[in-house]
Amino acid sequence: MKRIGIMGGTFNPVHKGHLALARAAQEHFALDEIVFIPSGTPPHKAAGKVLNKEERYAMVKLAIKGKKNWSASRLELDRPGYSYAIDTFATLKKLYGRRAKLFYIMGLDSITELLDWKKPLELFKLCEFIVGTRPGTRLRTFRRLVKFPPLQKEVDKIHLMELKEDVSASEIRAKLKAGKPVGRLLPAAIAAYIKVKGLYR
Ligand code: ATP
Repeated sequence: MKRIGIMGGTFNPVHKGHLALARAAQEHFALDEIVFIPSGTPPHKAAGKVLNKEERYAMVKLAIKGKKNWSASRLELDRPGYSYAIDTFATLKKLYGRRAKLFYIMGLDSITELLDWKKPLELFKLCEFIVGTRPGTRLRTFRRLVKFPPLQKEVDKIHLMELKEDVSASEIRAKLKAGKPVGRLLPAAIAAYIKVKGLYR
Protein backbone atom coordinates (compact mmCIF):
# COMPACT_ATOMS: atom_id res chain seq x y z
CA MET A 1 0.00 0.00 0.00
CA LYS A 2 1.33 3.44 -0.97
CA ARG A 3 1.83 6.07 1.70
CA ILE A 4 0.77 9.47 0.39
CA GLY A 5 1.33 12.79 2.15
CA ILE A 6 -1.14 15.56 1.39
CA MET A 7 0.07 19.13 1.86
CA GLY A 8 -2.99 21.36 2.05
CA GLY A 9 -2.69 25.09 2.48
CA THR A 10 -3.25 28.51 1.09
CA PHE A 11 0.36 28.80 -0.14
CA ASN A 12 0.08 32.59 -0.27
CA PRO A 13 2.95 32.29 -1.21
CA VAL A 14 4.58 28.85 -0.93
CA HIS A 15 7.80 29.20 1.12
CA LYS A 16 10.72 27.31 2.61
CA GLY A 17 8.66 26.36 5.69
CA HIS A 18 6.22 24.41 3.50
CA LEU A 19 9.02 22.63 1.67
CA ALA A 20 10.81 21.78 4.94
CA LEU A 21 7.53 20.46 6.39
CA ALA A 22 6.88 18.22 3.36
CA ARG A 23 10.49 17.01 3.26
CA ALA A 24 10.56 16.15 6.99
CA ALA A 25 7.19 14.36 6.79
CA GLN A 26 8.39 12.33 3.82
CA GLU A 27 11.59 11.34 5.60
CA HIS A 28 10.20 10.57 9.05
CA PHE A 29 7.10 8.73 7.88
CA ALA A 30 8.47 7.00 4.76
CA LEU A 31 5.98 8.62 2.39
CA ASP A 32 6.10 7.44 -1.22
CA GLU A 33 4.53 10.60 -2.60
CA ILE A 34 3.71 14.16 -1.62
CA VAL A 35 0.76 15.96 -3.20
CA PHE A 36 0.39 19.71 -2.71
CA ILE A 37 -3.25 20.80 -2.83
CA PRO A 38 -3.60 24.60 -2.78
CA SER A 39 -6.99 25.69 -1.49
CA GLY A 40 -9.34 27.41 -3.94
CA THR A 41 -11.41 29.50 -1.54
CA PRO A 42 -10.15 28.93 2.02
CA PRO A 43 -13.08 29.14 4.47
CA HIS A 44 -10.88 30.55 7.28
CA LYS A 45 -9.24 33.45 5.43
CA ALA A 46 -10.90 36.83 4.70
CA ALA A 47 -12.43 36.95 1.20
CA GLY A 48 -10.52 39.13 -1.24
CA LYS A 49 -7.40 39.09 0.98
CA VAL A 50 -5.89 35.99 -0.61
CA LEU A 51 -3.92 36.20 -3.85
CA ASN A 52 -5.62 34.82 -6.97
CA LYS A 53 -5.65 30.99 -6.90
CA GLU A 54 -3.93 30.54 -10.27
CA GLU A 55 -0.94 32.60 -9.10
CA ARG A 56 -0.70 30.53 -5.89
CA TYR A 57 -0.93 27.31 -7.90
CA ALA A 58 1.72 28.51 -10.39
CA MET A 59 4.11 29.21 -7.50
CA VAL A 60 3.51 25.79 -5.93
CA LYS A 61 4.25 24.12 -9.29
CA LEU A 62 7.43 26.16 -9.61
CA ALA A 63 8.56 25.39 -6.05
CA ILE A 64 8.28 21.61 -6.54
CA LYS A 65 9.56 21.48 -10.10
CA GLY A 66 11.99 18.58 -10.60
CA LYS A 67 11.28 17.05 -7.18
CA LYS A 68 10.74 13.35 -7.60
CA ASN A 69 7.39 12.00 -6.37
CA TRP A 70 6.10 15.48 -5.51
CA SER A 71 3.13 16.89 -7.42
CA ALA A 72 0.51 19.62 -7.29
CA SER A 73 -3.22 18.99 -7.60
CA ARG A 74 -5.99 21.29 -8.87
CA LEU A 75 -8.63 19.40 -6.90
CA GLU A 76 -9.59 22.31 -4.63
CA LEU A 77 -8.98 25.00 -7.26
CA ASP A 78 -11.49 23.46 -9.66
CA ARG A 79 -14.16 22.66 -7.06
CA PRO A 80 -16.69 25.47 -6.64
CA GLY A 81 -17.39 26.92 -3.18
CA TYR A 82 -15.24 26.87 -0.06
CA SER A 83 -12.39 24.36 0.12
CA TYR A 84 -13.11 21.97 2.98
CA ALA A 85 -10.59 19.27 3.82
CA ILE A 86 -13.32 16.68 4.42
CA ASP A 87 -14.53 17.02 0.80
CA THR A 88 -10.98 16.79 -0.52
CA PHE A 89 -10.13 13.66 1.48
CA ALA A 90 -13.45 12.03 0.54
CA THR A 91 -12.51 12.53 -3.13
CA LEU A 92 -8.96 11.29 -2.56
CA LYS A 93 -10.26 8.20 -0.77
CA LYS A 94 -12.50 7.40 -3.74
CA LEU A 95 -9.58 7.95 -6.09
CA TYR A 96 -7.06 5.76 -4.26
CA GLY A 97 -9.33 3.31 -2.39
CA ARG A 98 -7.32 0.67 -0.57
CA ARG A 99 -4.26 1.30 -2.70
CA ALA A 100 -3.07 4.12 -0.46
CA LYS A 101 -2.86 5.31 3.11
CA LEU A 102 -3.31 9.07 3.32
CA PHE A 103 -1.45 11.41 5.67
CA TYR A 104 -2.60 15.00 6.08
CA ILE A 105 0.50 17.13 6.66
CA MET A 106 0.11 20.47 8.45
CA GLY A 107 1.51 22.86 11.01
CA LEU A 108 0.54 22.88 14.66
CA ASP A 109 -1.37 26.16 14.24
CA SER A 110 -3.68 24.43 11.76
CA ILE A 111 -4.49 21.35 13.83
CA THR A 112 -5.29 23.42 16.92
CA GLU A 113 -8.22 24.83 14.90
CA LEU A 114 -9.42 21.35 13.94
CA LEU A 115 -12.68 21.51 15.88
CA ASP A 116 -13.77 24.56 13.86
CA TRP A 117 -13.50 22.63 10.60
CA LYS A 118 -16.34 20.95 8.70
CA LYS A 119 -16.93 17.41 10.11
CA PRO A 120 -13.52 17.20 11.86
CA LEU A 121 -14.06 13.76 13.39
CA GLU A 122 -14.98 12.26 10.02
CA LEU A 123 -11.49 13.14 8.79
CA PHE A 124 -9.93 10.53 11.09
CA LYS A 125 -11.72 7.81 9.06
CA LEU A 126 -9.97 9.03 5.93
CA CYS A 127 -6.43 9.97 7.01
CA GLU A 128 -3.82 10.26 9.73
CA PHE A 129 -2.17 13.56 10.62
CA ILE A 130 1.48 14.57 10.50
CA VAL A 131 1.93 17.82 12.38
CA GLY A 132 5.04 19.99 12.29
CA THR A 133 5.80 22.43 15.10
CA ARG A 134 7.62 25.72 14.48
CA PRO A 135 10.55 26.55 16.79
CA GLY A 136 9.42 27.69 20.23
CA THR A 137 5.71 26.87 19.75
CA ARG A 138 3.93 25.76 22.88
CA LEU A 139 1.89 22.61 22.98
CA ARG A 140 -0.65 23.83 25.53
CA THR A 141 -3.51 24.33 23.04
CA PHE A 142 -2.72 21.01 21.37
CA ARG A 143 -2.84 19.17 24.73
CA ARG A 144 -6.21 20.75 25.44
CA LEU A 145 -7.45 19.69 21.99
CA VAL A 146 -6.55 16.02 22.39
CA LYS A 147 -8.24 15.88 25.81
CA PHE A 148 -11.56 16.57 24.09
CA PRO A 149 -13.34 13.21 24.67
CA PRO A 150 -14.33 12.34 21.05
CA LEU A 151 -10.74 12.98 20.01
CA GLN A 152 -9.08 10.87 22.68
CA LYS A 153 -9.50 7.63 20.76
CA GLU A 154 -7.98 9.24 17.66
CA VAL A 155 -4.82 10.58 19.29
CA ASP A 156 -2.66 7.78 17.94
CA LYS A 157 -3.49 9.04 14.44
CA ILE A 158 -1.81 12.39 15.15
CA HIS A 159 1.98 12.34 14.74
CA LEU A 160 4.00 15.32 15.94
CA MET A 161 7.35 16.31 14.48
CA GLU A 162 9.65 19.17 15.40
CA LEU A 163 10.73 21.59 12.67
CA LYS A 164 13.42 24.23 12.60
CA GLU A 165 12.12 26.48 9.83
CA ASP A 166 10.54 29.51 11.52
CA VAL A 167 8.75 31.17 8.62
CA SER A 168 5.16 31.96 7.71
CA ALA A 169 3.49 33.35 4.61
CA SER A 170 2.07 36.29 6.58
CA GLU A 171 5.59 37.30 7.64
CA ILE A 172 6.69 37.15 4.01
CA ARG A 173 3.72 39.22 2.78
CA ALA A 174 4.35 41.86 5.45
CA LYS A 175 8.03 42.07 4.50
CA LEU A 176 7.26 42.34 0.78
CA LYS A 177 4.76 45.11 1.47
CA ALA A 178 7.37 46.99 3.49
CA GLY A 179 9.98 46.47 0.76
CA LYS A 180 12.16 44.32 3.07
CA PRO A 181 14.28 41.41 1.78
CA VAL A 182 12.67 37.94 1.75
CA GLY A 183 15.27 35.92 -0.16
CA ARG A 184 16.18 33.80 2.86
CA LEU A 185 12.55 32.69 3.36
CA LEU A 186 11.65 31.70 -0.20
CA PRO A 187 13.02 29.37 -2.87
CA ALA A 188 14.92 31.53 -5.40
CA ALA A 189 12.45 30.77 -8.20
CA ILE A 190 9.53 31.99 -6.08
CA ALA A 191 11.31 35.17 -5.03
CA ALA A 192 12.01 35.86 -8.72
CA TYR A 193 8.39 35.10 -9.74
CA ILE A 194 7.02 37.49 -7.11
CA LYS A 195 9.41 40.20 -8.19
CA VAL A 196 8.72 39.90 -11.92
CA LYS A 197 4.94 39.82 -11.40
CA GLY A 198 5.03 42.60 -8.80
CA LEU A 199 2.97 40.56 -6.31
CA TYR A 200 2.23 41.50 -2.66
CA ARG A 201 3.21 45.15 -3.00
P1 ATP B 1 -0.21 32.33 6.79
O1 ATP B 1 0.88 32.98 7.58
O2 ATP B 1 -0.74 33.16 5.65
O3 ATP B 1 -1.29 31.74 7.64
P2 ATP B 1 1.12 29.76 6.46
O4 ATP B 1 2.37 29.60 5.70
O5 ATP B 1 1.16 29.58 7.95
O6 ATP B 1 0.48 31.14 6.02
P3 ATP B 1 -0.48 27.94 4.78
O7 ATP B 1 0.06 28.48 3.48
O8 ATP B 1 -1.93 27.69 4.81
O9 ATP B 1 -0.13 28.85 6.02
O10 ATP B 1 0.39 26.68 5.18
C1 ATP B 1 0.05 25.34 4.90
C2 ATP B 1 0.43 24.51 6.12
O11 ATP B 1 1.84 24.60 6.36
C3 ATP B 1 -0.28 25.01 7.39
O12 ATP B 1 -0.80 23.87 8.04
C4 ATP B 1 0.84 25.64 8.19
O13 ATP B 1 0.63 25.47 9.58
C5 ATP B 1 2.06 24.86 7.74
N1 ATP B 1 3.31 25.62 7.87
C6 ATP B 1 3.64 26.75 7.21
N2 ATP B 1 4.87 27.17 7.57
C7 ATP B 1 5.34 26.28 8.48
C8 ATP B 1 6.56 26.17 9.23
N3 ATP B 1 7.53 27.08 9.13
N4 ATP B 1 6.70 25.10 10.07
C9 ATP B 1 5.69 24.20 10.19
N5 ATP B 1 4.53 24.25 9.51
C10 ATP B 1 4.34 25.27 8.67
